Order: sequence, then C-alpha cells, then structure tokens
Amino acid sequence: MFDPRALRADFPILERRVHDKRLVYLDNAATSQKPRQVIQALARYYECSNANVHRGLHTLAEEATEQYEGARRKAARFINASGPDEILFTRNTTEAINLVALTWGRANVRAGDEILITEMEHHSNLVPWQLLCQATGARLRYARICPDGTLDLDQVAALIGERTRLVAMTHMSNVLGTINPVGGVARLAHARGALLLVDGAQSVPHLPVDVRALDCDFLAFSSHKMLGPTGVGVLYGRRELLQAMPPLFGGGEMISRVEEQFSTWNELPWKFEAGTPNIADAIAFGAALDYLSALGMEAVREHERQLVAYALEALGQVPAITIYGPPDPAQRGGVVAFNFGGIHPHDVATVLDYEGVAVRAGHHCCQVLMRTLDIPAAARASFYVYNTEEDVDALVEALNSVREVFGSVAGRPL
Ligand code: PMP
Repeated sequence: MFDPRALRADFPILERRVHDKRLVYLDNAATSQKPRQVIQALARYYECSNANVHRGLHTLAEEATEQYEGARRKAARFINASGPDEILFTRNTTEAINLVALTWGRANVRAGDEILITEMEHHSNLVPWQLLCQATGARLRYARICPDGTLDLDQVAALIGERTRLVAMTHMSNVLGTINPVGGVARLAHARGALLLVDGAQSVPHLPVDVRALDCDFLAFSSHKMLGPTGVGVLYGRRELLQAMPPLFGGGEMISRVEEQFSTWNELPWKFEAGTPNIADAIAFGAALDYLSALGMEAVREHERQLVAYALEALGQVPAITIYGPPDPAQRGGVVAFNFGGIHPHDVATVLDYEGVAVRAGHHCCQVLMRTLDIPAAARASFYVYNTEEDVDALVEALNSVREVFGSVAGRPL
C-alpha cells in the first residue's frame, strides 16, 4: 500500500495556498492533479523529440511515433485489452462515446430499436444516445435507480429485450459514487444479442478495470481524470466491432488508398485517427499510466474505499447534511455528493473555497439524476491518491464555517 502523504511531494500544485489556506483539493472527479512525472514527460517530448508521427523517416519522427504508440500499448495493458489496435485515442470520454454513437450507432440502429441507459448517466453518455435515437427513430429507455442509489439488476434484465441493440452504462456514478455491476450487465446484454458500452470516466482512474474479464464491447475514459493531461481520451472497442465500423472523420492517416471518387481505410486503430493526433498529451498520458501502474490499481481502490468510509462517517455526523448514494463504502467509489442545511450548494462551495477546500457544486452534468433525486444541485467532494483523512477533516471543519456564515436557514438554526 502506498503512502498518500509521501505521494503529495510529486504534485507541485498541492503546495499552493488558496486564500492563504492550505489547498485541499477535493474536485478529482472533475479533473485530477498531475504529478511531476507527467509534467516532465510533456516538457521532455517538446524539448527532445517533437515531430509529427507515422509519416517521417527521420530520428525525431521515429522517436515521437515510438513514444506515441508506446502510450497506446500502455493503455491497452492498463485495461487488459487484447491488443493496442483496440485502443483509439480521442479527445476525451465524451468524444469516445460520440464516436460509437455516430459510427456503430448510425450503421446498426434502426427505427424501433432500443438503447438502454440508466438514470445516473452523465450527459456524455446520454445526449449522444438521444441524438442517435432522434436520427434513427430508435427509442431511448432508462433503468431506474433504487432509493439507495444502486441499480436493480432484475429491472435492468427486464428492460433488455428483443429490440435492445446497446446498453450504455456508467461503471461508476460521478454523483452517487455507485459502482455498477457492469460484468453482470454484459452477460444479460449478450444473452439477448445486445452490446454493452461502459462509461469508464470515473472507474478506470480509480479501480482495476479489465475489459476482457468484464466482457464489455466498448469502454470510454479520459486521461485528465487519471493524472494525465487534458485533451486525450480512449475508446476501447472489441476488434471485430471496430473493424466493421465505418470511420468517423476522413483525412490524412486514416486511409490506405485514395482514388478520385473513393478511398479505402487504414488498419486499426489508425482508421479512426484522422489528422495529426494529440501526440504530446498522449505520451504524457503514458507517464500517468506508468505512475498508476506503479501504485497498483488494487491499492488505489483500497485507499479510496478507506477514505470514503472515513468521509461517510465524519460527514454523517455533521448536522443538517444529506449525503447521496449507497451507504456501504464497498459499493461506491471516491465521490461523496451532499447538500447542507438547505443552503444552495454554490454558496456552500464558495465558502469552502475561502477555507482552501475545492469541491464542485451544481448538477454535475446529470440533470436527469438531479430530477430523480428531486434536487436542483449538490456539492461534491471527490478523492484521489494524494488525499488523506486530514483533507476530510478540513472539509468537515470548513462546513462549520459555512454554518457560521449562514447561521440559520428558513428560520431554523443550522
Ligand atoms: N462520464 C462520467 C461519469 C464523468 O464523470 C465525466 C466527466 N465529468 C464524463 C463522462 C465526461 O468526461 P470528459 O469531460 O473528459 O469527456
């Protein structure tokens, strides 16, 4: 098990002060901080090896290509894909999911077909399916959540029918923290001839994810939530599916042969990577994957399980707080969303910021879920490898300042 206090030395930003207080960064579900190893990999690439990939025959081009394709191999190993050709670099999770909707979806989904998602989806795994359904006449269906914020597998099973083409589901909710049993859902989907796309934006950074053990068909995730730079995401797809899918963008790199009136496509994964890719950020993402692999994803998960257990206990004692999601830390990842005493979460977050505590507040790109929970918004603390119990204590302490600032709400003392 790693020591989160020792790791903090790798993250220069954590030395910063905010409003003259120690920075307590609890907004990791939005984006994580970056260790020196990642920042240096970016600088090293630009200082030593900057060149365009794939086309050059000179030394720098070969180095850049080797490092870029090396990052792809690391991503493949990280999720146990059967090869790097199953890893497409995109800009982020959102683009990865849209890629599936626009290519696989347009080619395979017809009027009357069904796409099944859940009420806890992020807009990135909801709006692309709305667009696909609107374009094709397919129907978008929702699996509802139980009162404790978990999914009911029996209900999911009942909703997967003859016409279901795809189940698209988050592996871990960015609001409730719920970890969904996607392996079980893959079995249910496949038994009825449907595919499973997993939104791994919150799971791949925080738990061991093995695409072959889960048997999912697609998995999308973002570098910036797992210690890497912004601007790089991954779409994992099963090889046969990717081979059969048409490309999304046309241009350089994605072709094999170009005639006047038609073209043929490059091999995987390049068929889906038109134009110059985000070389530097992908290489630095490789450094982030090395960093997480050295910590071990089992250890990352265990650290966050312990921290969430501690946070649920400590926050649970704060009067007038409502915490969302499953009460059992074994069923949830490192995210705790809450509301406090009827105060608008934006106000809560603003006062917390004055105490140096960075949390997010709003609908968290989950407006459908907010409606189910019957709240306009929530505050959210989210953890990562460098967070400690002291950070949770600082959050609880800062909530006391919120209480002092607001004193009472609707005539009731807080
Ligand atoms: N899905 C989930 C569950 C998320 O938490 C996020 C990011 N908040 C996304 C998708 C979208 O990720 P990105 O903005 O990197 O595309």
